[in-house]
Amino acid sequence: MMKENLELVEANIREACAAAGRDRSEVTLIAVSKTNPAERIRVAYDLGVRDFGENKVKEMLGKEPQLPEDIRWHLIGHLQTNKVKSVIDKTVLIHSIDSIKLSDTIDFEARKKGIQVDGLLEVNVAGEESKFGFLPEELLPLLERLRQYRNLKIRGLMTVAPMVDDAEQNRAVFRRLRELSIDIKLKNADNVTMNVLSMGMTGDYRVAIEEGATMVRVGTGIFGMRQIGE
Ligand SMILES: *Cc1c(COP(=O)(O)O)cnc(C)c1O
Repeated sequence: MMKENLELVEANIREACAAAGRDRSEVTLIAVSKTNPAERIRVAYDLGVRDFGENKVKEMLGKEPQLPEDIRWHLIGHLQTNKVKSVIDKTVLIHSIDSIKLSDTIDFEARKKGIQVDGLLEVNVAGEESKFGFLPEELLPLLERLRQYRNLKIRGLMTVAPMVDDAEQNRAVFRRLRELSIDIKLKNADNVTMNVLSMGMTGDYRVAIEEGATMVRVGTGIFGMRQIGE
């Protein structure tokens, strides 16, 4: 079952890349494994997946020691500042930097550990009340601060698009995120590159790829439906 799911997702990614004139190698598939036990992650691993996304620190840290060391763990959910130090050396990329208090804390804790941490700024493109993330207009004024970090490098932007029935409805959201990343890139701020655009989930990753996604986060499309409430 998971094998067929992965094959379908892979075929869709290739199709979307082809439609957009992009190379398949420009897009990283992140298998969002939240709520799935280590054994299920192991199945995906054995099918060749190496990038996994988790939204809760405790859950990720619980599974990580049970699984192969070459897995690249992506933290994609809201991160509380008091959990920063336990996770920064366990993840390859923090997708969900949604406040300056959080980015300051990551830089500070990374300096204490003597490591470099890569992160993305989460953007609430559609301005939804219920969502974490910076509003689009907040981004450019932040650059002055971000460029001063010594141990946190900002690599790009991430968004969680609204729940919609038709993926096409999110095309404008993805396009806006890409435009924002171009605006930021033009500022040439130290410490800030814009090579990563993390956008697109099971319902809309094809549209996201057509609009420039370099990372797509696919959960149910690979692992199947999660239990209600998880
Ligand atoms: C759960 C989750 C996903 C994956 O969602 P699916 O619809 O199952 O693909 C992607 N991104 C974030 C931030 C998530 O929390």
